[in-house]
Amino acid sequence: MRAAGLDVGSTTVKIAILEGDEIKTTRVAPTGYDPMGVCNELLEGLSYDRMTVTGYGRHLLSGKIPDCEVVTEIRAVAMGAAWMHPACRTILDIGGQDAKVISLDSRGRLSKFQMNDKCAAGTGRFLDVMAVALGYTLSEFVDAAGTAQTSSKINSMCTVFAESEVISEVARGTPREELSLGIHRSVAERSAAMLRRIPLEDDLLFCGGGARNSCLAALIEEHTEHRVHRLPDPQVVAAVGCARHALKMSSNS
Ligand code: ADP
Repeated sequence: MRAAGLDVGSTTVKIAILEGDEIKTTRVAPTGYDPMGVCNELLEGLSYDRMTVTGYGRHLLSGKIPDCEVVTEIRAVAMGAAWMHPACRTILDIGGQDAKVISLDSRGRLSKFQMNDKCAAGTGRFLDVMAVALGYTLSEFVDAAGTAQTSSKINSMCTVFAESEVISEVARGTPREELSLGIHRSVAERSAAMLRRIPLEDDLLFCGGGARNSCLAALIEEHTEHRVHRLPDPQVVAAVGCARHALKMSSNS
């Protein structure tokens, strides 16, 4: 039995193929302006018996692929995280356009969650916009923040106002590295505040594309005073969760 999990996100589409307890393939591609086309390209040449889909664009696929089930992102992330890191009790997922915190019980089942999908502050989009405002690629931006000795505080919460604030600070001569660290710190502070509302229990697993950002992970550790676990490919956790769901559905039918 081969199960496929597809996560049609706002920024990237992710696919995972599972055979029993083994991850056979994962693929990631930018969502762009034609998510359906990207899904078809990613699925090309892959064989599977059953599929579950999640993410911002999940409803695009329902009805188009036979036997394709749809689950919420919260459920997909919870299933993927519980399987990939069984000790995890709290999950922080930072994606392109939202941030979520999820609490699991001792049996790995979803118990509580909080989601910020109304405002770009605290999401990957906020960091992506600020990198561009500072004239950096995303990896240069992360490196600059990681090497800064001091941080310049960004006061605006709103992405549009924060971008203007950054541009004004650059014009005033504030070093780009200090601004980079200040911006990362503001996202880490927002994440820590969301985590405090859950409340946070160990192990804390950080996933989603945001977890590929090493500076952000270190700052979240500092602000929460908890060790942050990251998987080698944190972006595919929801896709893997979907594949686990597809496997479960097939064993139930
Ligand atoms: P979605 O599921 O909403 O499409 P993702 O989970 O793919 O979003 O996360 C996208 C975000 O991940 C981007 O906005 C970016 O900030 C961040 N990201 C992706 N790759 C990297 C990387 N190599 N370094 C730092 N941040 C990254």
